[in-house]
Amino acid sequence: MAHSDVLVIGGGIIGLGVAWRTAQRGLRVAVVDPSPGGGAARVAAGMLAPVTELQYGEEPLLRLGMASNERYGAFAAELTELTGLDTGYRRTGTLAVALDSDDREELRELHAFHGRLGLASEWLTGRECRRLEPMLAPGVRGGLHVAEDHQVDGRRLATALVAACKLLGVAFHRTQAAALLTDGERATGVRLLTGEHLTAGRTVLAAGSRSHLLPGLPDGVLPAIRPVKGQVLRLRIPELYAPFLSRNVRAVVRGRHLYLVPRADGELVIGATTEEMGHDTTVTAGGVYELLRDAHELVPGITELPLVETNAGLRPGSPDNAPLLGPTSLDGLAAATGHYRNGVLLTPVTADLLADYLATGELPTLAADFTPDRFRTEVPA
Ligand SMILES: Cc1cc2nc3c(=O)[nH]c(=O)nc-3n(C[C@H](O)[C@H](O)[C@H](O)COP(=O)(O)OP(=O)(O)OC[C@H]3O[C@@H](n4cnc5c(N)ncnc54)[C@H](O)[C@@H]3O)c2cc1C
Repeated sequence: MAHSDVLVIGGGIIGLGVAWRTAQRGLRVAVVDPSPGGGAARVAAGMLAPVTELQYGEEPLLRLGMASNERYGAFAAELTELTGLDTGYRRTGTLAVALDSDDREELRELHAFHGRLGLASEWLTGRECRRLEPMLAPGVRGGLHVAEDHQVDGRRLATALVAACKLLGVAFHRTQAAALLTDGERATGVRLLTGEHLTAGRTVLAAGSRSHLLPGLPDGVLPAIRPVKGQVLRLRIPELYAPFLSRNVRAVVRGRHLYLVPRADGELVIGATTEEMGHDTTVTAGGVYELLRDAHELVPGITELPLVETNAGLRPGSPDNAPLLGPTSLDGLAAATGHYRNGVLLTPVTADLLADYLATGELPTLAADFTPDRFRTEVPA
């Protein structure tokens, strides 16, 4: 039976970030995952977009996202310095464009909302948008340039996090957690699929959209985390066409959010569908067709590019689409899950907040709006 100070269930980017930062605080950390560094980040576009992802009523999430975005440069640089691995962090900015007058009105409203919140976003005419990105369709009617919404490569980030954890002595158990162990009052660790027991001072549940499904988890400790499927395409930009796009480009096409994220290595990610299909990750002809059709409307030249990969992943969505961070109502069990469409963005801040909590027992106030107990309903006496 192995014992650690902190046991993290789930080695997606969230669990790995928490494990790395916690090990840096001098605690003995273990991670349980059949394939650490897998998960949704291997599919994600990796936009770091607190401003262009902002929805009305999500101001607390905006604050958390901005805090994470501000940390990203240093977080990525520290990972690279430690591991020698590039994370693909790129300060590109984002251009959100409108293809018709309704979209333009919506973007105008969003721009006004940004202004009220003091966020830096600049209104551009269609011509100004095309001057920034000449491959945009001639019909683009205007857009918002957000200079501080950047990108990172989720795959490279996950690989670098695994390496960083290993360098800091994090123990990896490459199997599934079969059940949470409790002594009735308190979480004490997990039973693995192999039958082995791992015990820990504190256990962190970071199993993405499977977090609430862990056997042994008492009722009411976590709300259901719903898997929200997203299909994504990866194209390659031949040298001949570079720079095809210079920044993240996004739009709403026929009511669906679409984005194109150009990487420094020539990859172009086009995403993503939003589907509530349980844990299904099938790539469908319809999903690929819609993405290509909408992307073609926005940037007609994409049809010239080689299509190199299609895949689908699951965003872990909480009931209010914001993450669950910090201690749960079960003593000894903390949560770092429910990051939905912002998990890549929120990795640095989640890692810092959880590591602070695990090292000191105090959850920083930045996490106050995101504690797991916000979903608890009082049972009437
Ligand atoms: C199509 C798509 C596009 C996206 N685009 C963006 C974007 O542009 N920007 C952004 O910020 N975010 C984006 N996201 C969201 C982001 O990818 C996720 O929020 C984030 O990756 C979630 O990470 P996680 O570690 O919490 O969960 P996951 O990635 O789901 O990882 C959970 C891990 O837990 C493990 N696990 C599960 N059950 C067990 C168990 N019982 N025992 C052991 N291990 C277990 C799994 O193997 C997995 O490795 C996107 C997601 C998708 C799908």
